[in-house]
Amino acid sequence: MSTPDPMQPAASPAAADPAPAAVAPSTAAAAAPASVAAASAPVAATAPRPHVVEFRDVSKTYGSGARAYTAIKNINFVVDDRPDHGEFVSILGPSGCGKSTILRLIAGLSPQHPPTTGDVLVFGQRVAGASADRGMVFQDYTSFDHLSVLDNIAFGLECRGVPLKERHEQAMAWIAKVGLNKDADAQKFPHQLSGGMRQRVAIARTLILKPRIILMDEPFGALDPPTRYAMQDLLMNLWRDQQASVFFITHSIEESVFLSDRVFIMSRAPGTITHQLKMPPAGKPAHVRQRERDFLDAVFEVRDLVEGQERPAAAAPAVG
Ligand code: ADP
Repeated sequence: MSTPDPMQPAASPAAADPAPAAVAPSTAAAAAPASVAAASAPVAATAPRPHVVEFRDVSKTYGSGARAYTAIKNINFVVDDRPDHGEFVSILGPSGCGKSTILRLIAGLSPQHPPTTGDVLVFGQRVAGASADRGMVFQDYTSFDHLSVLDNIAFGLECRGVPLKERHEQAMAWIAKVGLNKDADAQKFPHQLSGGMRQRVAIARTLILKPRIILMDEPFGALDPPTRYAMQDLLMNLWRDQQASVFFITHSIEESVFLSDRVFIMSRAPGTITHQLKMPPAGKPAHVRQRERDFLDAVFEVRDLVEGQERPAAAAPAVG
């Protein structure tokens, strides 16, 4: 199977393709703000900001010998550090193409970490393991069953040694920020919450620690559509506030187009990034934006590319 060259970002197929109506090419646009800023900076030139995340020719093979299995191959991408706006990147691709492997390599979690070949850099440093600057939210709600909502959200601060009063104050503020009710919900336990509420707790637990990179592995995959819209809106608002960079895995093309600055599309395993597409800003609530014509055009465009990756090679139409 031949896949397009998995790129330097500027040479990706997305960059080479003419821009579809609603999907701008990825190209070097992402790098432009930094160089523009540098060009117009006052005389005291500052050192360039290291990239938030950079993958240099990263591959991961699980197992060895006859059982060796290469999950991702030659992954290259860069996420710039923008002063006032973290980038929101989502990753789409067939099941098993290595999306979670990429996320967990950024997180520094084994056995995905370390990569078999290549370098994973976070803020210019090779990832050595997990760190508080990277927070993760999973699809299966990761709260502690024996802790209340308040204590679940405060848990990370407790691990950091923050005194009880202060961590409870911060956790209470986060209960409100994620749209839960301080009086009604703070003392509930996870089994007393709906799926959407539990995911609000999971998001609060992660964001209270102010990670500079938020890693989300299908966080809304188990939610019904109205709850999912609400969570998408919540995430957009929190992300703008936090100014963190987000990596987001989803199977929902609508969700990725709505939330993202950039969408990565991956090939079947061994996964490579075949396209990096820049998305138009959302600027409206999910249930409004996701009915608009240009939004739907972008979704169709991305769907065609994703389905192209998902189609088994054997199912390709016969020629002649
Ligand atoms: P995705 O998130 O796209 O579904 P993953 O990154 O979870 O893909 O997995 C990519 C491939 O690597 C899959 O075939 C999976 O079975 C395999 N894989 C993932 N983790 C391990 C592991 N710890 N050991 C062996 N194989 C693994």
